[in-house]
Amino acid sequence: MSAYKTKGSVKERAELALNDDFLRKAVKFTTERLRIGKMNAAEQHGNWEEWRERGRQIRLHTIAHLDYYLNLFVENARANGVHVHFAPTGAEAVRIALAVAQSKAAKTVVKSKSMVTEELHLNHALQDIGVEAIETDLGEYIIQLAGETPSHIIIPAIHKNRYQIAELLSKEAGEALEADTTILAGFVRKKLREKFLEADIGMTGCNFAIAETGSMVLFENEGNARMVTTVPKTQITLMGMERIIPSWTDLEVMATLLPRSATGQKLTVYMSGITGPRRTEDADGPEEMHIIIVDNGRSNQLGDPEFQELLNCIRCGACLNACPVYRHIGGHAYGGTYSGPIGAVLTPALQKNVAEWDDIANASSLCGACYEACPVKIPLHDMLVYLRRRKVEAGHGKALETIGMRGFGTVAGQPGIMGAAVKLGQLGQRLVVRDGGIRLKVGPLKGWNKYRVAPTLAKRSFRQQWEALKRETANTGQTMDPVVKARMEAILKERAKGGGGRHG
Ligand code: SF4
Repeated sequence: MSAYKTKGSVKERAELALNDDFLRKAVKFTTERLRIGKMNAAEQHGNWEEWRERGRQIRLHTIAHLDYYLNLFVENARANGVHVHFAPTGAEAVRIALAVAQSKAAKTVVKSKSMVTEELHLNHALQDIGVEAIETDLGEYIIQLAGETPSHIIIPAIHKNRYQIAELLSKEAGEALEADTTILAGFVRKKLREKFLEADIGMTGCNFAIAETGSMVLFENEGNARMVTTVPKTQITLMGMERIIPSWTDLEVMATLLPRSATGQKLTVYMSGITGPRRTEDADGPEEMHIIIVDNGRSNQLGDPEFQELLNCIRCGACLNACPVYRHIGGHAYGGTYSGPIGAVLTPALQKNVAEWDDIANASSLCGACYEACPVKIPLHDMLVYLRRRKVEAGHGKALETIGMRGFGTVAGQPGIMGAAVKLGQLGQRLVVRDGGIRLKVGPLKGWNKYRVAPTLAKRSFRQQWEALKRETANTGQTMDPVVKARMEAILKERAKGGGGRHG
């Protein structure tokens, strides 16, 4: 069964994914490997939090002065001989790319992995004018053969296992290929070599654009982006307008944060810096180079206090690997080009249709794991809360949910009533607890308990446990961590006043 579906509601797509055992096993296996790899790499780095903060500061500074750095980049890139184009909309970016392809009478375009071109559905547009677009990143090549879209920012075919991949590649090969990764990769390598040699245009995305020299930098592990940027005579790079960083010194920080966060690697296998087309003394490289700088909704985020930090994203995918929701449903359930926590916020921020897209903000437990994983500290969990609020304020909330939340707000705002309600709940739940959990599938518990078991109320409330801990530390003469103590006291004070507090 395949859980590839982009239509319908988030709930319907998530349901499909939850019933797909192959998908769940494959996504869980890979995200866990990446998540642990990232944690080990951060620990081995030794100074991770400091570098994370450095990364955040670089991104905050760049985005705060985006107009300056964009202009500097464009000026330098043009001086290097690059044709630079601005595309305010996705449609304009596609129009420019197609115009370049037509001016070269191109028949084939080889592409290295690019989420922006996915966002623009550029492959379909190229196909429509008779140009064959071939993805050359192994994962992208696989999903192109499957007729699907990426389900992860950096591992596009994360939802497929090697047997499914062998089946797809066997069809392409016209013979049965063994489900052996070396054999499968060997087949793709041979096939793509021919495509690189015959391509008219090489097309790439851009990890970072260096303002001080007008260069663009690509990170990759397979060497395909090197082939794409050196063999064809014409190169087109599509970059989101926020990909800029000021200098090569800043790249050092990004080159430390990105691979570690993405895959747990200390360094990416290939890091290519490209500064203009081929010069006479160069051994290879394109004769003509175009860079299309894409806005497509990004400037809506500039100056928006809720969303501006989204522009800091370096597309590492670490928040997807850490997210307990993504790890169960994979990327297609989110319905947009970008998935996981970053997709749940970025897609509505890029779109204007509140009702349609704000729904995906519900696909989160608000645990804050995405923030913890993010190398540039984007507070995605706060943005998700904002999106939920925006949806309700726009009148798209459910009546029952509104009544329930109001009731909860009233009770939770009064410690006495809250305490009594918790005691009542602790007594009442005895009637429905089975094997340590609440398994009833009625009312609001119907959906929740379909795929998991609702936990019981703790025997002692947070408040009771906190008081006990204080007594215990006083009796044993120990001292409580002053930071923890101050934080806990603040939470209790806030709750006593009836406030919700800020998550995190
Ligand atoms: S939000 Fe942070 S963790 Fe997620 S992809 Fe962007 S940079 Fe990576």
